[in-house]
Amino acid sequence: MIVLKSERDLRVMREAGRILAAVLARLEETVQPGVTTAALEAEADRMIRAAGATATFRGQAGLVSHAPPYPAATCISVNEQVIHGIPGARVVRNGDVVSIDCGVTYRGLIADSAITVIAGDGSAASRRLVDATRRALDAAIGAAKAGGHLHDISFAVQAVAMSEGFGVVREFCGHGVGRDLHEDPPVPNYGNPGTGPVLRPGMTLAIEPMITAGSPKIKVLKDGWTVVTEDGRPSAHFEHTIAITSGAAEVLTLR
Ligand code: MG
Ligand code: MG
Repeated sequence: MIVLKSERDLRVMREAGRILAAVLARLEETVQPGVTTAALEAEADRMIRAAGATATFRGQAGLVSHAPPYPAATCISVNEQVIHGIPGARVVRNGDVVSIDCGVTYRGLIADSAITVIAGDGSAASRRLVDATRRALDAAIGAAKAGGHLHDISFAVQAVAMSEGFGVVREFCGHGVGRDLHEDPPVPNYGNPGTGPVLRPGMTLAIEPMITAGSPKIKVLKDGWTVVTEDGRPSAHFEHTIAITSGAAEVLTLR
């Protein structure tokens, strides 16, 4: 069931979104060759606590049965890692494609957002992948209009990815967000325009294209969390939490 958010809910989600946007803006600057993913995680955790919020991801149950509860505030996924990479001792290298996903809970409401940053000097191919994924998210937000359909969003992502010859991950998708991290409806990154539920003011959605340089096929590593491309080629991920309004969608996690 899709839960529409009240004005009060939206006010609090804006606050959660502002806190999260500040975290990701800081991490975007901090991603440099030589930094560890644990250092990025520590900075996110510190900023979330300082804002009086909590890290939504920590303690989330895994999707595969042997996965332990998620141990961190961020997911940091490097190069062939698509999503759900666990931060740790890994040192970021020049040219790495670093995706950072984070969730913030503030007064019971949640915002969810992700960025992909190239550390140092990226290859032209990496820059093209990251730019296309960012543009796919922008196009999807532009398609998120009251009276339109959910899969208008999905199609917008797919159209940008396909026009660049990139892959669209199918096993994972965006989602409703707010009272829970994952609410109805699922927001796939592929689909036919004019299909799916009608979009209404008060719907809050996490839109999150996951785009691969090569094949979109993925697998989950033995840690039960880290999702990687089967072909080992890089992928990128951007995400915003948005609210459907009577006009243009409001981006609650805008940096
Ligand atoms: Mg996320
Ligand atoms: Mg999400």
